[in-house]
Amino acid sequence: MPDLDRLYDVLVIGGGNAALCAALSARQAGASVLLVEHAPREVRGGNSRHTRDLRAMHEAPTSLMTDAYGEREYWDDLLRVTGGQTDERLARMTIRASGEVVPWMESHGVRFQASLRGTLNLSRTNAFFLGGGKALLNAYYRTAERMGVDVLYDTEVQSLKLDRSTVREAVLSRNGFPATARARAVVAAAGGFQANLDWLRQYWGDAVDNFLIRGTPYARGRVLKDLLDQGAAPVGDPTQCHAVAIDARAPRFDGGIVTRLDCIPFGIVVNRTARRFYDEGEDVWPKRYAIWGRLVAQQPGQIAYCILDSKAERLFMPSVFPAVHANTPGELAARLELDPGALEETVRTFNAAVRPGTFDSQALDGCATEGLTPPKTHWARAIDSPPYLAYPLRPGITFTYLGVKVNERAQVQLQDGSPAANLFACGEIMAGNLLGRGYLAGFGMTIGTVFGRIAGREAALHARL
Ligand SMILES: Cc1cc2nc3c(=O)[nH]c(=O)nc-3n(C[C@H](O)[C@H](O)[C@H](O)COP(=O)(O)OP(=O)(O)OC[C@H]3O[C@@H](n4cnc5c(N)ncnc54)[C@H](O)[C@@H]3O)c2cc1C
Repeated sequence: MPDLDRLYDVLVIGGGNAALCAALSARQAGASVLLVEHAPREVRGGNSRHTRDLRAMHEAPTSLMTDAYGEREYWDDLLRVTGGQTDERLARMTIRASGEVVPWMESHGVRFQASLRGTLNLSRTNAFFLGGGKALLNAYYRTAERMGVDVLYDTEVQSLKLDRSTVREAVLSRNGFPATARARAVVAAAGGFQANLDWLRQYWGDAVDNFLIRGTPYARGRVLKDLLDQGAAPVGDPTQCHAVAIDARAPRFDGGIVTRLDCIPFGIVVNRTARRFYDEGEDVWPKRYAIWGRLVAQQPGQIAYCILDSKAERLFMPSVFPAVHANTPGELAARLELDPGALEETVRTFNAAVRPGTFDSQALDGCATEGLTPPKTHWARAIDSPPYLAYPLRPGITFTYLGVKVNERAQVQLQDGSPAANLFACGEIMAGNLLGRGYLAGFGMTIGTVFGRIAGREAALHARL
């Protein structure tokens, strides 16, 4: 039973993957652990409960992943997507450690399944959780409870009393009532600040009113801001985040994975003036899906529409919402409240620029446009086979990259360059150390699992000093 009069060895803030990995590791190392989750039990688990897979290196095929995916290729992939904005020492350490996480996860109750087929084609690089992130978290919570981790739900950590480099106490709001918790060491695993619309507004202005937050509404960045205000060293650009184009009909928060759309390479994308604005076929989808949230965010009204015809209908995983159908582009425009003449003109111009080629939905094919700005460099086929279909798109924010700086022991770094004595961080709250920009599918869970384990172990070690 949680006991707020007790001095725990380790206090873990958060209830997602990173927090659970930290709590399990700290407990395994012999520490008494209190885990504090802001959300109620029914929606515990933050963004992590929406996940499906994690990226893990492996030198040879495993029962879960095909072929090999070694450190070098993993590092090259990370370097490319981040444009070098990553801490190489921490990144390489994370990549190497990712090779060991699957057996550890299994030993704590997580079950895996053969990779899912779909547009991201991750069977070589990523291990898929049986039942997704929710089943993973349920398994971790069950194991944590069995091991004697105390869990408090409906409890927000509002601030940490940081005395020079040592956290003395956590100020809580428990079911709306003030409380405090004390521990010898603290692990901050409270996620990003993507659900704090006022904070996002500082960088994006009123465009934020049209952003959809794909995951938990509890990721408000309260602990992050508190730590930065008290002298923790920041890392990452506050405007950088993982953002994908999702179905505009998704709920404001927590729509999860079923609102994502993978149709863009197979159609054209227009803004509300019915004009195209970016190459829809620039590269294979796993390398491009995470740029489209930002692209849509930069359009007027932060809205866009993917326009397709019947040839494309079966090539992608649809969202949970039905496509808008029509017999002509003009009719489709009317249904989308776009200017019919403008959309007809955009489709006509696009179709006229398409050059013959052999279409291959699974590879960078030779189907491209000629003399069109912006071009469509692959999978360009005339949009001419009714029924026509469309999906409205909005920016779907997954998680923000501004975080606290950490070292290889997951210790939070202070602005004077020294590490905090008893404060550790893991997961989204420190992901900016490795992700300055860009994203590699499955890397969020890798960061949380690797740093969660380190933070838990180091916090337990500190508590026994
Ligand atoms: C729809 C969707 C699909 C995704 N799919 C994948 C995927 O397949 N693979 C992958 O690698 N990544 C995926 N991600 C990203 C992934 O979810 C994250 O990178 C990872 O789960 C982050 O884990 P975390 O524990 O740091 O944060 P979270 O899981 O978000 O946990 C943060 C926790 O902190 C709690 N909290 C916040 N503030 C406080 C406070 N003040 N006091 C107490 N508790 C607090 C929250 O309630 C929450 O429990 C996906 C994200 C979304 C939204």
